[in-house]
Amino acid sequence: MAKKRAKIRLFVEGTLGEGQGIVASKEQANYLFNVMRLKIGDNVLLFNGRDGEWQAEVVEAGKRAGKLACRSQTAPLQLPPDLWLLFAPIKKSRTAFIVEKATELGAARIMPVLTDFTNMDKIQIDRLRAYALEATEQCGGTFIPEVCDIQKLSDVLDDWPEDRHIMFCDESREALPVAQALAAETKGKWAIVIGPEGGFSPAEAERLRGMKQVTCVTLGPRILRADTAAVAALTAWQSALGDWE
Ligand code: SAH
Repeated sequence: MAKKRAKIRLFVEGTLGEGQGIVASKEQANYLFNVMRLKIGDNVLLFNGRDGEWQAEVVEAGKRAGKLACRSQTAPLQLPPDLWLLFAPIKKSRTAFIVEKATELGAARIMPVLTDFTNMDKIQIDRLRAYALEATEQCGGTFIPEVCDIQKLSDVLDDWPEDRHIMFCDESREALPVAQALAAETKGKWAIVIGPEGGFSPAEAERLRGMKQVTCVTLGPRILRADTAAVAALTAWQSALGDWE
């Protein structure tokens, strides 16, 4: 029996819609027609972060170029909850992990921030955006979270929207356990804030605790690495206030 080929899912820039043609870039043509050996008449799934997911048929297949034609929509655009993740960048591979997991777990916006104890201030934002895209491609998502340029935490807090709640992951004091804290909260606009390896400075922690939008939570009695804390926090938030219902 012929082995069924796993469906190829590809991100494209162009608009997707009934009868819409998509020109494959040089890299895409190489992947589709040289690496995956697709032929005219084969199908792939396309998404662009805006128009949901579409089944498309190969109508031209060259070594360096090609064309696809949208046939039918296979999934509508599915937006994640209105959740931002603020984190202080750590080592390269761990920062990449945070972006990948935040995308899979369903954050709308990923915001690297510089904190007083951030021990890594050079991040390759384009790489991070590529990780978000790859993770979306992989997890069957139709929405690519925005990865913002790095900003100072203090500047972000200066302009913090009145109506956006903050779940402040606070390992240093007697905050409420996360499940208990979130049980008392309502859905809406939220952000999760995770500190760097060295934690928040006392001034930063004081400032956060003093904001009326902030709910302090603990993620258990153990100190988690920032990347673990991000995954744990996203999981806890999603199961309490997110779209896992
Ligand atoms: N200050 C710590 C390490 C910080 S861990 C130290 O060196 O002792 C990095 C970040 O992960 C923290 O700033 C916090 O936001 C989050 N975090 C880690 N463990 C946590 C826990 N048990 N509860 C809540 N947040 C935690």
